[in-house]
Amino acid sequence: MANAEKTEWGLKLNRVRRNEMKAGEGRVTIKTTLQMLRANAAINSDDQRPLIPMAHGDPSPFPSFRAATAAVDSVVDALRSARFNGYCANSGLLPARKLLIKLTKSGEFSYLPNFLSGIYGRAVAEYISRDLPFKLSADDVHLTAGGKQAIHAVISSLAHPNTNILLPRPGYSTYDAAAALSQLEVRHYDLVPEKGWEVDLDSAKASADDNTVAIVAETARKLGLLVISDEVYDHITFGSKPFIRMGAFASRVPVVTLGSMSKRWMVPGWRLGWLVSTDPNGFLQKSGLLERVKAFFEVASDPVTFVQAALPEIIEKTEEGFFPKIIDVLRQDADIIFEKLKGIPHITCPNKPEGSMFMMVKLNMDIFGGIQDDIDFCVKLAKEEKVMVLPGSTLGAKNWLRITFGLEPSILEEALQRIKAFCERNTRKPL
Ligand SMILES: *Cc1c(COP(=O)(O)O)cnc(C)c1O
Repeated sequence: MANAEKTEWGLKLNRVRRNEMKAGEGRVTIKTTLQMLRANAAINSDDQRPLIPMAHGDPSPFPSFRAATAAVDSVVDALRSARFNGYCANSGLLPARKLLIKLTKSGEFSYLPNFLSGIYGRAVAEYISRDLPFKLSADDVHLTAGGKQAIHAVISSLAHPNTNILLPRPGYSTYDAAAALSQLEVRHYDLVPEKGWEVDLDSAKASADDNTVAIVAETARKLGLLVISDEVYDHITFGSKPFIRMGAFASRVPVVTLGSMSKRWMVPGWRLGWLVSTDPNGFLQKSGLLERVKAFFEVASDPVTFVQAALPEIIEKTEEGFFPKIIDVLRQDADIIFEKLKGIPHITCPNKPEGSMFMMVKLNMDIFGGIQDDIDFCVKLAKEEKVMVLPGSTLGAKNWLRITFGLEPSILEEALQRIKAFCERNTRKPL
């Protein structure tokens, strides 16, 4: 019975840590919001219409976004070869990798080619380097279990007592959640809708101080800070502006580039991403950050071995037509949604999307009757029309919506009809 009086169970630290988390931060995630919306969409069992998912970015179920045949074949071949059923060496353990390369060359370990995970990292290094003025090597690359793990790796590696990070608002909430978990203080800077979501530099400058460790930015500028550049949507552009990697400016400011197969190859379920130090001057190495990143990956699970093994072929062999076809469908989708929203006065779209598959639109609350706010809108829309869109509050933008338009175009048209009907039903009556 010695334990009978023991009530803390050594979890005291844990409880204190949770209490230190700022209220609201890292609690409402996209995941929990999606669960809530899905539950609401299922309430009316008489409604036989298909659910239209526009709250998260996964177009993979739609025929227009089917994965490239060459990519699928590469994974199947890797799996069938039976050479990649084992563990993969941690991509951060350079000395171990070098030793293994040596042993393999000498024949001693020739039956373990999959331990040479560096060869897969090299494929990513070459892929990213295509858009950079300098060349990366496999040593700059950590393969990750999706873009999300890359976010966790960099955020937890940056967390020190009394430090903070600047995140965009609206932004991708995984950064906030990861920072809260690592007790890294989050400060937000605004993106300005009227200026094509450009960074509000004054708000970013005002938030930064001597304890600021990094800025997460898709459109980053000089603030004298390490830039974390989320390039999960690399090359998914269909407007007038070309895609430019933040790493192109890495000679002036150190950049950690995060990427993933999920969005460009339309295979989020394959869970393969990367964390790349795009840093020709070696700032990150000197700062000790890369040591911490390595330590993270020594503990973390590696991405699935056979998907890693297929990666060089996937990057090399994805059919020429695959990417332009995807871009064409997304451009068509952007046209459809932008035009149709013009016919719904309840919703303002400040910018026509020029990239990715998401857009932020504003709810004109004074036109609505019986709708409290963005969350109320999304819950009722899910329940009454079986259309899921993400409330902006999840991303720090109250009374905005984040809509994923990466759907089969015919389904997108159907969704917009349902949204229009819903808005018309919920219009404020004249007094
Ligand atoms: C989807 C997404 C990620 C996460 O990528 P996964 O490979 O699905 O983990 C990261 N950042 C942004 C901006 C995203 O949209």
